[in-house]
Amino acid sequence: MDIRLRPTLQLDLSDGPLPRVHRVTDAVLEGDWIYTTFPRAGTSDYYTELPDQAWLFEFRDVDPRDLDALVSIVRLGQPVPVGPSTVPYSDLPVFTNESWQFYLARFAAERGREIDFAQPDWRVDDHGIRFHVDEIGVRVVLAQRAAQYAIAYSEGRLKEVAPDFPSRRNILAGDPLTSTSAIFDPDPELDAWEHFASLLNPALAAFPPHLHVEILGSPDLEVIRTRSTPEFDIGYPQATTYTVAMLQLALDLAADIEFQVCANEMCGRTFVRQRGWCVHGGHRTRGVRYCSSSCARAQYQREKRRRDNAARKHGAEQQT
Ligand SMILES: [Zn+2]
Repeated sequence: MDIRLRPTLQLDLSDGPLPRVHRVTDAVLEGDWIYTTFPRAGTSDYYTELPDQAWLFEFRDVDPRDLDALVSIVRLGQPVPVGPSTVPYSDLPVFTNESWQFYLARFAAERGREIDFAQPDWRVDDHGIRFHVDEIGVRVVLAQRAAQYAIAYSEGRLKEVAPDFPSRRNILAGDPLTSTSAIFDPDPELDAWEHFASLLNPALAAFPPHLHVEILGSPDLEVIRTRSTPEFDIGYPQATTYTVAMLQLALDLAADIEFQVCANEMCGRTFVRQRGWCVHGGHRTRGVRYCSSSCARAQYQREKRRRDNAARKHGAEQQT
């Protein structure tokens, strides 16, 4: 065997294409579970890209109480870390099994559901791989919270969306060993940043610096066919739609991009790049007033209708 390999140390993923995620071929809601099928391993359509700005579009468009909407999130791609040596909450601000079960059970109970953690196999049953609706709901809520922080920051009103829990600073202020409560005055803006970072960072930890071994060539055709994409290279991190959406958010935030508000009066979405304008994956950022080409069309037609109506009315008035 003479496989040509190239090992590199990948320090970050901020340049180049974002990691792709396992494609989902089907997702079906049954009770509190979303049963999910993936393409067979080794097939060429095994991976898919998360749409650009999914944190401002797909994740924000979903009502986390709507179970069918959560199914649509699962259809975007693998939503939760899966695998024998994978911690199912490694992408969230949760650090132990106990706190995960407590957090998820409370999240479910607030929505009138009960979770049985004693099930013999949480993830798999006869019908295939499944995700509990609240595992998805939690991620949608957290992604929306993170988006709220990012947008509020871009509008200079982060203070207004600060969390209402006691932050580290408040606790420090109440600590008898730190009599410097004046210094540790709780500051809503700092609290917001602290909470924001605590949501983002576990998701970003899915993309650590790593040894990436690229497979350049092999006399074995099968090896090239099945491993000729980065995802099949050795050491490539496992991505989920949630972690990639949070990575998109972090990159947009760090690039100090000016967010815009869609000028379609029925939309008003905050966005970064217009969608559906350029077929080759490019996106307009400058001089763009609409979040998508469909919003631009809709508003153009609305305004045209108004102009036409006004002209007709004007014409009718002149005739009388
Ligand atoms: Zn729009």
